[in-house]
Amino acid sequence: MQKLFVFALALSLAQLGSAQEGSPVANRAPLQQNAFNPLPLGAVRPLGWLQRQERIQADGLTGHLDEFWNDVGPNSGWLGGTGESWERGPYYLDGLLPLAYQLNDAALIAKAKRWVDWTLSSQQADGQFGPRKNDDWWPRMVMLKVLMQYEEVSGHKRVIPFMQKYFAYELRELPHRPLRDWGKYRWQDNVYTVLWLYNRTGQKDLLQLARLLHDQGYDWEAQFAHFQYTEKQNAEELGLGKDKPIPDKAMQTHGVNNAMALKAAPIWWLISGQSSDRAALRHQLDELYKYHGLPNGMFSGDEHFAGLDPSQGIELCAVVESMFSLEEDFAILGHASLSDRLEKITYNALPATLSPDMWSHQYDQQPNQIACTRAHRQWSTNGPDSNLFGLEPNFGCCTANLHQGWPKFVSALWMATPDGGLVTTAYAPNQVDTVINGKRIRITEETDYPFRGQVHLLIHSAGAFPIVLRIPSWAVTGDVVLNGKSQALRNENGFVTLRRTWKDGDSVLVRMNLEPRTETSYRGSAVFDRGALVFSLPLNGKWQELRKYAEKSADWQITTDRKWNYAVETGECAARVEEHPVGDLPFDVEHPAVTLQIKGKLLPQWTEQLNSAGPVPISPVASNEPVENLTLVPYGAAKLRVTAFPQLRQKAQCNMTAAR
Ligand SMILES: [Zn+2]
Repeated sequence: MQKLFVFALALSLAQLGSAQEGSPVANRAPLQQNAFNPLPLGAVRPLGWLQRQERIQADGLTGHLDEFWNDVGPNSGWLGGTGESWERGPYYLDGLLPLAYQLNDAALIAKAKRWVDWTLSSQQADGQFGPRKNDDWWPRMVMLKVLMQYEEVSGHKRVIPFMQKYFAYELRELPHRPLRDWGKYRWQDNVYTVLWLYNRTGQKDLLQLARLLHDQGYDWEAQFAHFQYTEKQNAEELGLGKDKPIPDKAMQTHGVNNAMALKAAPIWWLISGQSSDRAALRHQLDELYKYHGLPNGMFSGDEHFAGLDPSQGIELCAVVESMFSLEEDFAILGHASLSDRLEKITYNALPATLSPDMWSHQYDQQPNQIACTRAHRQWSTNGPDSNLFGLEPNFGCCTANLHQGWPKFVSALWMATPDGGLVTTAYAPNQVDTVINGKRIRITEETDYPFRGQVHLLIHSAGAFPIVLRIPSWAVTGDVVLNGKSQALRNENGFVTLRRTWKDGDSVLVRMNLEPRTETSYRGSAVFDRGALVFSLPLNGKWQELRKYAEKSADWQITTDRKWNYAVETGECAARVEEHPVGDLPFDVEHPAVTLQIKGKLLPQWTEQLNSAGPVPISPVASNEPVENLTLVPYGAAKLRVTAFPQLRQKAQCNMTAAR
């Protein structure tokens, strides 16, 4: 046990000095209390591989998009210009701003501040703000989230009066200019910022506004109480047509709307206090995943509900919005399983749909993705460009919205417990530095999680406060070692709590055993997991440039000659783990940080259909082809891949892994 404790600490106390001070804010009566309170932007900063990942993002599209993409360029309506004046500027800022501050990158902070300064100066006498040529409620809901984060990190005195004035305007205006279109389906994102302000000012008319937004908004709880949309949708059934307003049915089955709606019931419960509202999310998730769940942690939406076939897609906007919703849900409800889902999406679906340098992205990703080409596919409604890696394949919403994924996850890595401590929402290398009940708490978290199962916390603060550790459901065994001594701790609903008077320099080692698992998926197919990571067979794709936009920005297709149609051996000893160093690119198909070795056989009857892997043959299957050794890599690294495999009737022999 002693030798496990020889971690060299990369950071000295002196290097940790400059974090922003900030305190979490609890809900104010009569609101229900959160299980955990989010920390202000700037309290958590990335380290290790996560810092490299955020740096890649800053050096990629996020740091440069405004330099060549007009929709967030200098003529944006959100900078006072005559250009795009709807959601794209706010979407971009919702990720650019937290990224800039987490990396403490002066150039990016200056970029973000130009938008914030224009927005703050745009407020009219009646309280309205933003581009005058567009009065839609929806893009303002996004910009309010940006301003909220800006206030947390900067303490800027103009933000709170600005929001007070706008919400007073909204309360006056909504009765005769009610929520419509996207805003009607995304009302909970507006309520989220209204409650943020209420907790800081206590003005009762904000609760009246929150109720009005709920009453004018779509009833997501009712949708899932009697869930009708259990099948793949198509444009005709949805009533979609060119130059027509989007029909309600299309809004209700829309992937991104549904991702945002994952926080609707918990946010509404804070106001209503009804136990049925508190319980609704579990049922919502159950229904969504029962009929549309995918092996990458997401549900299908390409761009409407598309069923369980792993050749269906999910849009990048839905990935980052699901992450943000689950972060809020975990804060409000405190269920450990919500963070299991959050980690699965973050560590698989998010990196998979972005190129390793974060200069291009897909609109839709497929768990079984054998070609990324401009071609007709079996999407519910999306176009032929949807799975290309590019600047704005299919449609530009994801180009603007992708930026919030990693930064908001970083912000949510730790939250405050009601009794003055901290809880680990998710594991990743970071440093938290915050003030709770007047007490400063600083903790460095060193880990290569999710590629490894060990997490080392170094406490830099003295005093009595609890540290609550979320134990993922996949960590079947493991222990917690405090200053070299293994602790006997009870796992209560996915959490263990360390209560003590801490000394500066105390150390906690969390050891989670991450065994490979096989999950049964669509038509009895097998999906290999280990911890939070899903694994795929990578297909050595060749990248070919289709169109160039800027020095590093282009549209790409990816193709392969490699055979992909394998059935695999499953069973207790089916997968052998090999670990390698986490490289400069954390999700790198050439240098994967962990691989699984499995055995499989080609399955000639599994063929391509509509330019994708055809439906997975129903398992179990038989094949007369020879057995081959296959190396699986993390799903997020493999851009062309097979993830859900038919299972061979013949099970893996345990003696093959004797060396394990
Ligand atoms: Zn999108």
